[in-house]
Amino acid sequence: MEKTLAIIKPDAVERNLIGKILARVEAEGFKIAAMKMAHLSKREAQGFYYVHKQRAFFDDLTTYMSSGPVVILALRRENAVPKWREIMGATNPAEAAPGTLRKELGLNIEKNSTHGSDSPDNAAFEISYFFSQANIHG
Ligand code: ADP
Ligand code: MG
Repeated sequence: MEKTLAIIKPDAVERNLIGKILARVEAEGFKIAAMKMAHLSKREAQGFYYVHKQRAFFDDLTTYMSSGPVVILALRRENAVPKWREIMGATNPAEAAPGTLRKELGLNIEKNSTHGSDSPDNAAFEISYFFSQANIHG
């Protein structure tokens, strides 16, 4: 079974949306393999998003991602990577399909409430960035 890394971003934690998003995770058939709350340092956010380090939005993104607590999840399911991205919707909430998390909950292209890995290889890197093997269940 495939795993993906999901994050409930600071804007969603701030607006008391953790429960709503976790309910969707479970309703869509994901098993939570690992979960923790954390307040990332700017440096941790930079390391997580290093693939974007040349992008114009990198500094704002890493400031935002270290602005408050997040909930970090390793999720297990068949086709977990594409399935979670489908449930999140497009990066920009304004362009996301109806019923997706980003459409329903996201504020703007930056504060879009959730993260999801974009490939199984990146999922493996992202999961290992936050969780040791001993803390990943199933
Ligand atoms: P996704 O999260 O859909 O995989 P990206 O990997 O392209 O999107 O970008 C990572 C995150 O950076 C986005 O989720 C969003 O928070 C932020 N971001 C992306 N594009 C922009 C942009 N043009 N302006 C501001 N923030 C952005
Ligand atoms: Mg991405």
